[in-house]
Amino acid sequence: MIEFELWYLVLLPLLFAAGWWLRGVDASQRGGEGDGGPRAYFRGLNYLLNEQPDKAIDAFIGVVRLDPETIDLHFALGNLFRRRGEVDRAVRIHTHLLNRADLPARSRAEALAELAQDFLKGGLLDRAEESFTRLLDEPRHRVDAQRALLRIYQMEREWDKAIEAARRLEREAGESSHVQVAHFHCEAAEKALAAGDEERARSHLEQALKVNRKSVRAAILAGDLATRRADAEAAIGHWRSVGEANPEYLPLVAGRLADALDAAGRRAEALNFLRRSLLDHPSIDLLDVAQARVASWEGPAAAEALLRDELQRHPSLAGFERLLASRAVALGDAPLEQLHMLIQAQARKLARYRCSKCGFRAREFHWQCPGCSSWDSYPPRRLEELDAP
Ligand SMILES: [Zn+2]
Repeated sequence: MIEFELWYLVLLPLLFAAGWWLRGVDASQRGGEGDGGPRAYFRGLNYLLNEQPDKAIDAFIGVVRLDPETIDLHFALGNLFRRRGEVDRAVRIHTHLLNRADLPARSRAEALAELAQDFLKGGLLDRAEESFTRLLDEPRHRVDAQRALLRIYQMEREWDKAIEAARRLEREAGESSHVQVAHFHCEAAEKALAAGDEERARSHLEQALKVNRKSVRAAILAGDLATRRADAEAAIGHWRSVGEANPEYLPLVAGRLADALDAAGRRAEALNFLRRSLLDHPSIDLLDVAQARVASWEGPAAAEALLRDELQRHPSLAGFERLLASRAVALGDAPLEQLHMLIQAQARKLARYRCSKCGFRAREFHWQCPGCSSWDSYPPRRLEELDAP
């Protein structure tokens, strides 16, 4: 029994052959071409019917003369194979087309574009990159090739190249992507920070803020860089600015800011900031940050009092889980510990971040969605809060 999609493969050559018949070109007229022409197609068709696609491809690409119809048939078959995920076969067909000396220039560029898509689909990023780069010289394919290259550089985490590609797209096609480009600079800055290259990190962060002065991530990283350079005041300033301009991102900076204040001998100010933030912009992550600091700076009783206050204002499963954990430990009570475990299992399911574009759920906060590759699509809030009535 032939799968449904395979019928398309069979149908295609059949339609092309029917075209020849209608135009009165039959096998006898093309007899001089030996194995080429319609006869080869019927052979290919036969192989397809017998589910031998590789032999079918051999028959199709063995055709001696390329005319517009046969070229179209090759493209159609190649696309179908790619869509079916049979990338190797698509590559064979498109490579064959590309290598034929009698292929018109326009179709050659087309074949290269299809081949590049095959490589991309097959995850052969190096070869896809090389093919798309060659397409930059083809006016009809240039913009699409630039878009594809931009995608590939992000997948390869080649941030300098991604920045360059985004700039070209903006210049030549008017496609603005300043939010993305700021993230590319932030990614490059993180890489530089990890490698200890502070100057390079600084330069990238400056660029990030230049293309997107509202970039929260760049401000957070600028604080990290200042901390590395032992400039606590500058770091505190950067992180404060995040909380003031974008309070929804407070959970990402509150811990850093409180620790920096504490390290500068300003613990009371740090505690005050945490309690104030929790009042003004309540969130589960912020509660965790505050509870951990209060527990270590003022002791478990103060941390529990903070939890109780917060739960009265904003009851949450996550908050009760923290409270039960602390009670079970304090009382050494087995049934209470069992209840805590049950609630913990439930709370964990709700402790995910969710992409606002595609719904992809993740335990960690992401600047770029691992599911759909969108930037800034994760609100720094847990599922429990996102779905709260
Ligand atoms: Zn997504």
